[in-house]
Parts: sequence; C-alpha cells; structure tokens
Amino acid sequence: MKKIAVIGAGTMGNGIAHVFAQNEYQVNLIDVSSERLEGALATIGKNLDRQIKKEIIDEGQKAEILNRIATHTSMDGAVQDRDLVVEAATENVDLKLKIFEDLDQLAGTETILATNTSSISITKIAAVTKRPDKVIGMHFMNPVPVMKLVEVIRGYNTSDEVTNIVMSLSKDLGKIPVEVNDYPGFIANRILMPMINEAIYSLYESVAGVQEIDTVMKLGMAHPMGPLQLADFIGLDVCLSILNVLYDGFGNPKYAPCPLLVNMVTAGKLGVKSGEGFYDYSEGIKAAVVSQSFLSEKPALV
Ligand code: NAD
Repeated sequence: MKKIAVIGAGTMGNGIAHVFAQNEYQVNLIDVSSERLEGALATIGKNLDRQIKKEIIDEGQKAEILNRIATHTSMDGAVQDRDLVVEAATENVDLKLKIFEDLDQLAGTETILATNTSSISITKIAAVTKRPDKVIGMHFMNPVPVMKLVEVIRGYNTSDEVTNIVMSLSKDLGKIPVEVNDYPGFIANRILMPMINEAIYSLYESVAGVQEIDTVMKLGMAHPMGPLQLADFIGLDVCLSILNVLYDGFGNPKYAPCPLLVNMVTAGKLGVKSGEGFYDYSEGIKAAVVSQSFLSEKPALV
C-alpha cells in the first residue's frame, strides 16, 4: 500500500497528509477549497521546518515529502488508483454521507475507505456504500504529526482483513493503533466529553472558577491541560456536537450538554478559533471571561 488520498485539507487533513507523505506514501490531498489546499501545504511546510530544527529531517527530505503531496479540488481522478482514502472533511453527517456515496463510485473496488470522524457512526457511513466491509474509522488525534494514538473503529460490517491492514499500516506510520467498536463517541470522546461537560457544569454551578477547575485537573490528575482549556482548543461547537451524538445515541441524560456550553456556542464563543471561550485568546491566554450572570444562581450542594 503506497498510494493514498486524503479528503479535506483542514486541521486534521494536512496533518494526515504530512504523516503519510513522510512515510513514503504518494498522497493526493483533496479539498473543495483551493485556499485550504494552499494553506495546508504552507502548514505542512512550517511543520517540516520544525522537524528540521529538531534535526528529525533535513532540507532534502523536506523537499521529497512535499513532492509526494499532490493537491486536487475534486475527487474525480484523484481517488481511482488509491489503495486507501482517509476522509477528514468537515464534521457534518450529510456531507460525509454524500462524500462516501461519491467515493464508492469513484474509487477502485478494492480501495479501503477510512474516515477520521470524531463522532459519526462508521456503520452509518458504511451503509451508503456497496463495500461496508471496506469502510473503517481511522481517528487520528490533533496535532497528527505529534500524537501517537490512532483509534481504529470497526463498523458493524468492517472485515477482519481490512481492520488488520489499517492496524498494521498505522504502526508503519509510527503510531499506536487501538481497535474499538462502533458505538457513540467510540472510546476517546465517550470518556473525554463527559469529563469536559462535568467541568463546565462545575463552573456553571459556581463550584469553582475556570482557572481553579483547570488547575485541579492539571496538578491533581497530571493532565497537561485543564478540561476547560482543552475544550477551547477542540472548539466548543465541536464539544457540543459530540455531546449531542452521545446523548442521542445512548438516550441517557448523563450526556446532556451543560446549558452554559449551549449558551456559549449560541453566542459565538467557540474557544481558540473564535478568539474567546473559557479564556480570552486575543493576546495570548488570559483569565476566564465567562459572564457571571450566565452561571446558575444556586451553588452546588456539597
Ligand atoms: P476543518 O474544518 O479544519 O477542515 C475541514 C476541511 O474539509 C475544510 O478545509 C473544508 O474545506 C473541507 N471540505 C468540506 N467539504 C468538503 C468536500 N465535500 N470535499 C473535500 N473537502 C471538503 O476540520 P478538522 O478539524 O480538520 O476536522 C476534520 C475531521 O476530523 C472531522 O470529521 C473532525 O470531527 C475530525 N477530527 C477533528 C479533530 C480536531 O481536533 N480538529 C480531531 C480528531 C478528529
């Protein structure tokens, strides 16, 4: 397997293309936006420069890696001869179903179709194709070139053979794959999102302030980043949408998103990407900015 395509050249797509190209795969990077494609190549270039500084690669290798990435604004002609396609387009169920319907027509019949979705059912995506045995979740973590984990998610019909191929090629990329079954949130987000939601509830119920909550989790649990800061980095809209997937998927009120999270997303406070979430990012990280009037009036009972 040496020919792959990556669909979506955003945060995750550029990292996935980078890692495959660094491991000698020929990569077709596809995005509907040519600006996104240019941005992705620039980001990959900058990240490769960092690797040069750390003496992981040299200038010659940087050029070779970039040479292995070809950009395309359409899947047509860019997926036909690929062994594997990794879809990392926007997290939107209808969009992904359409992409997989088209991919199934355009890709070779033996091509494995993987998705980097954080929360959408692999079984549901596979069901719009005529090859559900060859559809699988390949959930990379951000930033892809740095993070070791790949959550490999088996849909209901994913074959053993395809799972083994994807597990083994993830290892070849220098990653550590973990196989999980297709249930809402898989493992990473099923555990992470309720923790983040609980941190938001703790703030909402005035148990403690933003920095206090993050400090407890950083110093007490040795987390490199507190849950509220992590939520800002992931994007509060993304956290809300994953919690809704858990809530809808399990029908269990324990996954209900905190009203404060819902309010912040509605108000456009999405975290780092909007410049403000639980922290203000306009001039580096500053203290919490959550309006006191939006916190629940009654402090939690202890
Ligand atoms: P992003 O918004 O940075 O990038 C998405 C890209 O998809 C954009 O460049 C957009 O132009 C492109 N796109 C939209 N429709 C397309 C189409 N029809 N064909 C081709 N390209 C199309 O998003 P992201 O953060 O990179 O997330 C991508 C996927 O990875 C999502 O499924 C997300 O859930 C998942 N994911 C994200 C993270 C994260 O931390 N950001 C972590 C793990 C998984």
